[in-house]
Amino acid sequence: MRLDSGKYSIALDSGERESNLRFVSHAHFDHISGVRKGKEALMSQPTKKLIEERKKIDIKTCCIPEGMELLSAGHILGSRQLFVQGDGYSAVYSGDFQMRESAVAEKIKTKKAEKAILDSTYPFPEIVFDDKDETIENIQKYVLSKGDKGIILFGAYVLGKSQELIHILNEVGIKPVVHPKVSKLSRIYTDFGINLEYASVTDNESEVEELTRRNFVGIIDPRSLLEAKMNLSNSYGKRVFTAVATGFSRIFNFGVDVSFSLSDHADFVQAMEYIDACCASEVYTLGKNAEIFAANLCKAGYNAMPMKEEMSL
Ligand SMILES: [Zn+2]
Repeated sequence: MRLDSGKYSIALDSGERESNLRFVSHAHFDHISGVRKGKEALMSQPTKKLIEERKKIDIKTCCIPEGMELLSAGHILGSRQLFVQGDGYSAVYSGDFQMRESAVAEKIKTKKAEKAILDSTYPFPEIVFDDKDETIENIQKYVLSKGDKGIILFGAYVLGKSQELIHILNEVGIKPVVHPKVSKLSRIYTDFGINLEYASVTDNESEVEELTRRNFVGIIDPRSLLEAKMNLSNSYGKRVFTAVATGFSRIFNFGVDVSFSLSDHADFVQAMEYIDACCASEVYTLGKNAEIFAANLCKAGYNAMPMKEEMSL
């Protein structure tokens, strides 16, 4: 997707060839296809560090051009929206965002813009996340209640959700054992001032041995959860409780013992809050649910439409 404004043709989280400026909102894989070794892109410093760790390449960032601004998106560490002041019109591209506060991401900052361009991760009004504080409390209660009964294994996306989960567990005195992929990314969170306590075999094997002598809490990519459950059950001869922490548990059945709708995205209600905060008179939707998201926003009284491949200000 491309946004044209004055001398800039901006690729929005994509590898648009026609563009002369690439904006990368955050370091999740579905937003970094446009990042190339040696090519400059506009992004925050934490995003640069996270992508370098994930893609194992050095990348270059560029200065923020006049008339543009990067605003915190509240989604994961380093996530930013792009605000562009055009000739007469302004626009803001949200990337992934959430309106609720997270302990491991900078709080979202909104700014008035005539046009708002939104991702459509949760396009349905009927999907409403539980209150975030309640969800966090439920996770903490669950781990404390099961702690003497067996091992608890969480499936959580390795970037963003895992770090939020580590923080939630740390709050009740639990230091989780995490997969090395989680550990490498969590170290970057710590480098940017977010204190997280966890153990991983690649950092401190003896600490992991110590923690796993008794029941422990583990965090792993959801795709490896059920295989890891079998391995742990065989290795330790204990009951292994499985849990997921994701907003998608509202849509999919993960086949686990318990699921928590801990999300770092906006649901439909939050999307409306965002549009209202931007005072946007035109809303453009992106992604595979763009059509249905725009239709549902129209039903809710907004002037919304799916974004075309390119848009001019
Ligand atoms: Zn994301």
